[in-house]
Amino acid sequence: MAHAGLAAILLSWLVFGCRFSVFGRRRDNVATVENRTPTTRCATVAQAKRATKAENQFPCPIASCDPWLLRGAGAAPDCTGLSPCTSRQNRTSYVSTSRIIPSFTDWLVHHRNELDAIVFDVDGVLMKARRPVPGSAELVQRLRTDHVPFRLLTNDGCHSPQEKIELLRECGLEFTEDEIVSSSHGMVELAEERSWQDHMFFVMGYVASCYGDEAGIQMTTDVDSLPRCTGVIVGEKSFDWEAVINAVFNYLITHADASLIVPNPDEYFAGRSQPFHIASGAIGRFLRQLCHTHGHRLEPIYLGKPYEPIFLHNHYQLEQELRCALERDRVVIIGDSLASDIKGGRDFGYRTALVLTGITTEAMLADSDVQPELVCRTI
Ligand SMILES: [Mg+2]
Repeated sequence: MAHAGLAAILLSWLVFGCRFSVFGRRRDNVATVENRTPTTRCATVAQAKRATKAENQFPCPIASCDPWLLRGAGAAPDCTGLSPCTSRQNRTSYVSTSRIIPSFTDWLVHHRNELDAIVFDVDGVLMKARRPVPGSAELVQRLRTDHVPFRLLTNDGCHSPQEKIELLRECGLEFTEDEIVSSSHGMVELAEERSWQDHMFFVMGYVASCYGDEAGIQMTTDVDSLPRCTGVIVGEKSFDWEAVINAVFNYLITHADASLIVPNPDEYFAGRSQPFHIASGAIGRFLRQLCHTHGHRLEPIYLGKPYEPIFLHNHYQLEQELRCALERDRVVIIGDSLASDIKGGRDFGYRTALVLTGITTEAMLADSDVQPELVCRTI
């Protein structure tokens, strides 16, 4: 009887136990595949980046995984698990915005242990009208000395990283090409997603050719080429607004599948000859309005802040550099625009600091629904 009982138990395990095991594994596999099935190529990148973060939450066995130490340590440690950069124990409550503090640098002295990385907007924060914002050079030097990881996140999609470095160098600010992430970097993933390799695009104004080369697309400013183009990229710098906008408007309403790509979603930026210059985001929305009025429901494709592509690209690059899974609320973005820097950073899960050295005034801040955690007179 005992043998018969044991045999029955064994048989039950073989039939049901293995079955549950197999079903369970199969269900897990299906879930994993479904989670990673992209609807678009951009989705693939985004999901991969989220998966990298989600799958690596185990404590890092290597003490030098602390990113504060990495830059001074030379080669990154073999922390293949991309574990969390630091413990969350140091997290403190958000800073009140009830008062404006003198400078971000002052705040950082007492709050550095709350952060694993810093993300700077460029124009209006580090430099303004081709001049350095007071204190920016000293802060950057201090971050390098203290091995604090940082990146520059700019909606300037027309200058190449090399050109941007030169502009910053003229202000006495030294950076390397890989420290700059531009809104136009998003064209690479977009071209992959849409299979646009070797397709021709008309550029309104100027976009550095390196972005087109990297994306594998061709770019032209010849309006006669518009009928042969897959879409339009709204660039920056000067161009014949009347001729180009009219040509692009007529092209868009007669080519229903044409795309309108706007690397820089900003409305305007701080200028040199005048306080503000209209940016490509405003022109993109103007074209959208024209098309909608005509009955063509065109929606521009935005790549820069406050939209997610530029933040995902930057965060992934930071994690790869630091070999750590960065908690988003241990990264702060410092910007001068409520609409792009602060809203984008907040939506992405970064901490946010507004500086009043750029396009935002105290009156605009008081009137806005978008509120940063920290408000600083200057960098
Ligand atoms: Mg700015």
